[in-house]
Amino acid sequence: MKKDQLLTRRRALLAGAAAVGAAGTAGALAVTPGNRPAGPAGPAPGPPAHRPMGSSAYRLQPLTGYGAPAAVPRRPPVRSEPILRLTGRGRTMLLTFDDGPDPRYTPDILDTLAKYDVRATFFVCGEMADYNRDLLYRMADEGHVVGNHTWSHPLLTRLGRRRIRSEMERTSEVVEQACGEPPRWFRAPYGAWNRAAFQLGAELGMEPLAWTVDTLDWTTPGTGTIVDRVEDGAAPGVVVLSHDAGGDRSQSVRALRRYVPELLDSGYHLTVPRRRYA
Ligand code: ZN
Repeated sequence: MKKDQLLTRRRALLAGAAAVGAAGTAGALAVTPGNRPAGPAGPAPGPPAHRPMGSSAYRLQPLTGYGAPAAVPRRPPVRSEPILRLTGRGRTMLLTFDDGPDPRYTPDILDTLAKYDVRATFFVCGEMADYNRDLLYRMADEGHVVGNHTWSHPLLTRLGRRRIRSEMERTSEVVEQACGEPPRWFRAPYGAWNRAAFQLGAELGMEPLAWTVDTLDWTTPGTGTIVDRVEDGAAPGVVVLSHDAGGDRSQSVRALRRYVPELLDSGYHLTVPRRRYA
């Protein structure tokens, strides 16, 4: 991410926010390359010998299917900065899409991901998700991760704790109702985190995930520019930020069709973060 590419419009939105800088070491982030998490309608895989009774108990199992359930910590730790990239595991990248779902663009994005059999993470806003629960269901059913991006996309650093909690809780409820389980990942609007957001996110069982490469697709810089930003930023562990709502996202849709096959040709696994807490 080139900071000098950040536009003044975005800066204005962030004015007064205690945004976390891009520097800093990310925590380890386990991923499941090639593994497809079971959707709400999918069969329950995993080793029967270790699976507790009942579907809700099954959800305590690591998605990779090994390890004792008792070893899974109940809650994520309260961090002081978000996770910015994956660690380890070779040429793995995460594609993330924020602010949706939007029926004008999200289905196209899901179609492209399905065409190439890759997974992505969608940080949805509750007020969008509430009217598009079928798209949330489709995301989960096709193996994607649905994260929490608050209800109305406010600048959290200007809100009181009670309002932040409401923004996060309401969104988690919609995700749980549509997908069968609550979100495990949270992303603050505008990347503007604060202590309350980290604390409340952990209380709700979510880890804070930021990004490594910002496509700045919301500025509609042209499809080719978005493709270039993704490919120039491609590296093991990189988390890419794009948007599937919030304006005209046709460039983001077209860019995805170009960079996904090229990243795959370069040997990258495009996958989702694995949840690590019960
Ligand atoms: Zn956003």
